[in-house]
Parts: sequence; C-alpha cells; structure tokens
Amino acid sequence: MRIHAIQTGRVQIKQAQIEGRGHGLWRQLQPMVSRQWAPWCPVYAWAIEHPEGVIVVDTGSGAHLKRLPRWHPYFQFAVRFDIEPEQEVGPQLRSLGISARDVKTVVLTHFHIDHDGGLSHFADSRIFADRDEIARTAGIAGAIQGHLPNRWPKWFDPQPLAWQPSRFGPFARSARITAAGDVIAVPTPGHTPTHVSVIVRDGDEQIILAGDASYLEATMLRGTVDGVSPDEASAKTTLADIGALCAASPTIYLPTHDPQTGERLAQRRPVGASNHTSSDREPAARPIDRRSAIPI
Ligand SMILES: [Zn+2]
Repeated sequence: MRIHAIQTGRVQIKQAQIEGRGHGLWRQLQPMVSRQWAPWCPVYAWAIEHPEGVIVVDTGSGAHLKRLPRWHPYFQFAVRFDIEPEQEVGPQLRSLGISARDVKTVVLTHFHIDHDGGLSHFADSRIFADRDEIARTAGIAGAIQGHLPNRWPKWFDPQPLAWQPSRFGPFARSARITAAGDVIAVPTPGHTPTHVSVIVRDGDEQIILAGDASYLEATMLRGTVDGVSPDEASAKTTLADIGALCAASPTIYLPTHDPQTGERLAQRRPVGASNHTSSDREPAARPIDRRSAIPI
C-alpha cells in the first residue's frame, strides 16, 4: 500500500507544548507564557492509496492560518504558521496525480486548526471523526477552546466513526475505515479527549498515523505528556498503549509534527530502530523492549 506524507507548511510552537512541564493548570499555561520557541515543525497530512479508494488522514494546515484571531491567547502567544496556498493538501495531491474525486474518505484525528485546515479540498469525500470531537469543537464553545469552526466549509458535515467493541492490541475498540479491515481507527485520547489515530496494516508492518497523540516518537517512548492535553492521566495511558502496540510487532510511528516522520515513512523505519541512512540501515529492525523504553 502506498502512503504519501504530504507536508503542508510548517508550524512553530513552544518547547513546553511539545514536552509538558509540571502538572495541571501550570502545565497547560506554559505554552502561552514560556518564551522558548521550539524549532519549526512540519505539518503532515496523509494519503493512502488503497484499492477501495484514496484515504486522506488529516487535511493539514491552510494558508488562512497565517492570520489568526487575536483575541485568543493561544493564537496570539503560542503558535505561528508558515504555509503558502500551493503547499495545501489539495494542490499537492493533484501533483501526485490524485484528484479530489479519487479521495473517497477523509479521517480527522482531531479538529485542531492544523488538521482541519485543508478541508475545503474535500467537498466530495466522506469525512469521519469521533462523534464527541465533532460536537465539542463546534460553535462558540469550540472557538473558545481554540478551534476555528467558523472557517469550516459550509458543506462540512462529518460522519461519526462507527466504533465496534473489537479489540486491537491494547485498544478496547476500533472502527474500520476500509471494508478489508486493513485501515482502522483506534481511540487515542489525551491531546484531546476524543483524539483518534489511524493504523494501516501493510503485510507484516503496521503504520500508525498518530496525529498529535504525541508530537515526537521520543516523547511517546518516554511517556511524556504534551503541554496542552486536558487530562494528563488519559494521555499517559494512551502513550503507554501505543508503546505496547509498537513493542508487540514492527510498527512505524508517524506523529504529525515529528521532524523525523517523513524520513521514517520513506525508510519504513520501525519504532526502536536506530536512525541509519538508507544505505546502511538493516533490512528488518527488532521491536523495542517496552520495559526499557517506557519508564514507569
Ligand atoms: Zn493538535
């Protein structure tokens, strides 16, 4: 299965957002009050070329994000975008030979502005997200939480993911994205209460399109909660669950903003494999030992 990593510009956030500092409200305030910006990070969207039609996971950012509402402290003090219209997901898909009509399905991991920023390119696709993520982010209540529902296309009417009580590794439920069952969503609450990740099963490998379950593979392995997750305990549980899944079989872990994500996909480099160049990397890497990778 061919998976495209499509970088839709860059975002800059604070180091205290990538790796949370302290606990509780203190942790959640740091991304706004800290002056320590992290290096610019990529913003990825994904296209999976599947026999049942192209599946896009997250729509990335849009050029409209260079102008953000000044009234919101997070937008004013904690985030900056760098993206031009031709870097949006739609034009990049077209340059790959994928038309909007080829995209049957879009899945949103969550409704943060750099994940739903390219929705306007998918008027003819079925769009799925968690039911409660859809409800929580709409209207004024959604805007106060830092979403931009007023910038959603008028036609935007996402369908709720159809959760089934079918276990996938540590996850108690899952939702099929394809009839074949080789692309599924799993609940990865933490970064938002109803965040989901998408897992692609491709032969012996599985690929996690992780959204913002963590910003980096390294923070997932360390179990370090980010600076914006509202519920630290559920975020920690999710990171441990993802770590357990990665330990059980070769897994390529692809967070939206990890600078290593594009290279990791190109090399199909699983979690726990060292960062070799393509010329010297081993053909198959061993899964990590969870006991050493995730301190408790
Ligand atoms: Zn996010």
